[in-house]
Amino acid sequence: MIACPSCDALYRVQVPPKGGRATCARCGTVLIRPIAGAGMRIIALTLSITILVTAAVFFPFLEIHASGIGNKTSLLNVATSFRSGILVLVSVATVSMIVLIPLMRTLLLLYVLVPVVFDRPPARHARHAFRLAQEIKPWAMTEIFAIGCAVALVKISDLAQLGFGPAFWMFAVLVVIVVINDSYMCTWSVWESLEESEG
Ligand SMILES: [Zn+2]
Repeated sequence: MIACPSCDALYRVQVPPKGGRATCARCGTVLIRPIAGAGMRIIALTLSITILVTAAVFFPFLEIHASGIGNKTSLLNVATSFRSGILVLVSVATVSMIVLIPLMRTLLLLYVLVPVVFDRPPARHARHAFRLAQEIKPWAMTEIFAIGCAVALVKISDLAQLGFGPAFWMFAVLVVIVVINDSYMCTWSVWESLEESEG
């Protein structure tokens, strides 16, 4: 049996052929979508996300010039610039959601998927790791951050001269890779292969 994650309708599992998809008859949510060779692609994309997120923390994100004064800042600067008060909490929460949680998620996914894709026995506690990766997904807000920044940039572009640092472009690429990666990821297929290989 498989339950629709959106509307909880229950179905008897009928695996579609590779490239096909099984959708929920009630709400249209895609339930199963096996893609040939998806495993390797997901691993490659997840690896690039890991590298990009890590690098994006250290490179300058934004340069601002207004009336002769300029400033360059990276996410690391932002995260460590508040010393006291409620802003410390805000910056910790922000950095967790745009950096730490996405990183944790990519590492968990690699931990679960690498052995499965290379036909090895699953890693220890692979099921727990995969479940955790699914549970923290809503808190991985890299894309939302990037979109928020784009909106903010449009608003302040009248007030100051803006320059984008390397980290900005890394985030732009990240948004695209995260979306492609999620589209390859068939949760049901991962569970299924974890179960098969555990016997
Ligand atoms: Zn549904």
